[in-house]
Amino acid sequence: MATSRATVVSMKATQMKVAQVPKPGAEFQIVEREIPKPAAGQVRIKVQACGVCHSDVFVKEGLWPGIEYPRIPGHELAGIIDELGAEVTGWKKGQRVGVGWYGGRDNTCLECRRGRFLYCRNSKVAGISYDGGYQEYMVAPVDALAAIPAALSDAEAGPLLCAGVTTFNALRHSGAGPGSLVAVQGVGGLGHLGIQFGSKFGYKVAAIGRGPENSALAKKLGASVYIDSQASNAAEELQKLGGAQAILATAPESKAMSSLIDGLAPTGKFVVVGISSDPIAVTPLQLIVGEHAIQGSAVGTPTDSEDTMNFAELTGVRPMIETYPLEKAAEAYARMMSGKAQFRVVLTM
Ligand SMILES: [Zn+2]
Ligand SMILES: [Zn+2]
Repeated sequence: MATSRATVVSMKATQMKVAQVPKPGAEFQIVEREIPKPAAGQVRIKVQACGVCHSDVFVKEGLWPGIEYPRIPGHELAGIIDELGAEVTGWKKGQRVGVGWYGGRDNTCLECRRGRFLYCRNSKVAGISYDGGYQEYMVAPVDALAAIPAALSDAEAGPLLCAGVTTFNALRHSGAGPGSLVAVQGVGGLGHLGIQFGSKFGYKVAAIGRGPENSALAKKLGASVYIDSQASNAAEELQKLGGAQAILATAPESKAMSSLIDGLAPTGKFVVVGISSDPIAVTPLQLIVGEHAIQGSAVGTPTDSEDTMNFAELTGVRPMIETYPLEKAAEAYARMMSGKAQFRVVLTM
């Protein structure tokens, strides 16, 4: 078919580059797709950066029920609104926004009617329920948008929309007050943010890591104390300091979590954010004596993400990141999976 040169150029202008997972367990593919158009209640975002999160393994390996393939992962994206769908109010073209794990709600279920949007029974996840941020343009429902403050770069905002809000929310709802001893288990992608937030909340932060090598970094991030869990019994060390009012468990190892429960102060709370499939072991007496609680904490809503980013802007909390171009999504993902990244991997467009 004969095609004029002008047509070719204009067709190209409607294409974009994406990194997609073609089917469960397959390698990433870099392909061109048509730039999507926002439907009613959606905006189109020109993506500038997107964090690569361990939860992207759900998409890569097909571990989340009901995912349709090919799927573009990514739930830590930051960019600029470049088109508004019909009926969108309160957001404007050119505005900097991000989308995190929380990808939208139905506004009709019982939890939504109660205003408990985090628990929506039909909630959506960006990069799982619909294509996420490993692409140059994406569409997202307005329910999923968080405004990004000026002081944060796109690459910094990305991880704050997932790892950041996860640790920020877990700590601010832990019940620990200023001056309390709060332990952060794990100095990694979640932990390095938890230490910073805890320190800026006015806690005495005890960072717990494996081996001596993270001590200097943990203290630089704001920890008052570093406990090497290989060289000592971390729960006993916390008790020597009076016991922790909260323990934020970020490292995905249930055995290590279980060994820390005895480090709690009376009425202390053990808050779990690290994901592991093994059970956490605890005896009834460990909970009864001192009235300890174990609680999970699940990321947060877009307004929680805004609180996180505004707090980060105010206090200087920043994720430590390694950046890769979108074309190297496979390499970036492998780097994240290796556990060797310092600490969050971010794709830039
Ligand atoms: Zn994430
Ligand atoms: Zn709902």
